[in-house]
Amino acid sequence: MRIGHGYDVHAFTEGDHVWIGGVKIPHDRGVLAHSDGDVALHALCDALLGAAGLGDIGHHFPDRDPQYRGIASGELLRRVVALLHQHGLTVSNADLTLVTQAPRIAPHVATMRQCIAAGLAVGEERVNVKATTSEWLGFTGRGEGLSAFAVVLLHEPNA
Ligand code: MG
Repeated sequence: MRIGHGYDVHAFTEGDHVWIGGVKIPHDRGVLAHSDGDVALHALCDALLGAAGLGDIGHHFPDRDPQYRGIASGELLRRVVALLHQHGLTVSNADLTLVTQAPRIAPHVATMRQCIAAGLAVGEERVNVKATTSEWLGFTGRGEGLSAFAVVLLHEPNA
């Protein structure tokens, strides 16, 4: 078994929606990002790559490369999972923690689990998404941005 951890932050900017966990959520802000700025999926990709010993998302999908401008993070996730499969690794489970004062995450958790499980090619029971505020403290508390943590476990079914 292999464990991996990921963390990501994006700043809020002008806009009318945010992508979190593969779900488009209407909001009075957007996020500043080269891609769709999905913190949850970016943290998850980093956790997966970390567990596999394959570096990080910036190495595989450099934000200086125009081919990744505006790319859907769900597509990045699918590419990372394909890479893991090439290395004989599959996902045992993933646990994500989202930190933001707004928008409210709870109404979207079930859909996020579905999207993430589909991206990971595992059942929904292997994916957990939880959200917390930072009690009005720090950059998330001031509504300047949002962050996400992800922990994953991989296994090698044919090892
Ligand atoms: Mg990011």
